[in-house]
Amino acid sequence: MERHMFGDLIHMGTSAIAVRVGAEPDIKGFTVHEQLIRKSSPFFEAALSNPATTAHPILIKLPKCSPTDFHVYVQWLYTGRVHVVLTSPITSDKDTDEYCLLIRGYLLGEYLQDTHYRDTLMDALVQLVSGPIKSFLARTEFGRIYQETKIESPLRRLLVDVAVWRHNWEYAKEQDFPKEMFWGVMTGLADRCQRPAGEAQSTSPFEVVKGTCHYHCHGDDTPCYKPKPPV
Ligand SMILES: [Zn+2]
Repeated sequence: MERHMFGDLIHMGTSAIAVRVGAEPDIKGFTVHEQLIRKSSPFFEAALSNPATTAHPILIKLPKCSPTDFHVYVQWLYTGRVHVVLTSPITSDKDTDEYCLLIRGYLLGEYLQDTHYRDTLMDALVQLVSGPIKSFLARTEFGRIYQETKIESPLRRLLVDVAVWRHNWEYAKEQDFPKEMFWGVMTGLADRCQRPAGEAQSTSPFEVVKGTCHYHCHGDDTPCYKPKPPV
């Protein structure tokens, strides 16, 4: 049994809110401790600070979000764990796999403005794309990602790096990259071609940044979700 620091106990308060996620016919209700979700998500902090939404009982509606993705988010809020490994397909969403859940989860984190959630999922994504080559990009909804993220998004940077360093282009023949991504990939490939032969053939840029904040979105003013290793 793994033991943890007493000081890391989560302070949840006593007030709970209801969140209704999804649109007909796929709607699911959740109950979440208000203090917990406000602390993690500026979106909820703003929504729950608005007098129009603080009438009791508090109900926040997220009609554009997926109940599955929100379920994974809530579970992470309480446990710090990301439940995305599938042993069988999700009944309502048969095309989903671990990679899709991580990408969709990241976009939910973007919508909820939750920095630590995005950085947690990013570390899982980096781990996944560092593994044996799979057809990651062939299963990526670039249009949605570029629509729902900002230009400086680490997710965009990661996808460009995957395309440049890890992707099996056999899978990319039918891909329609957004213009911004296309130019990012072209620049990355040009840079890779100019490197010394051994380095240009290397497939380890993800190894170099492993364990660092390279793809994190927290910036200099917000501490990383990961504790610093002892010096
Ligand atoms: Zn970090």
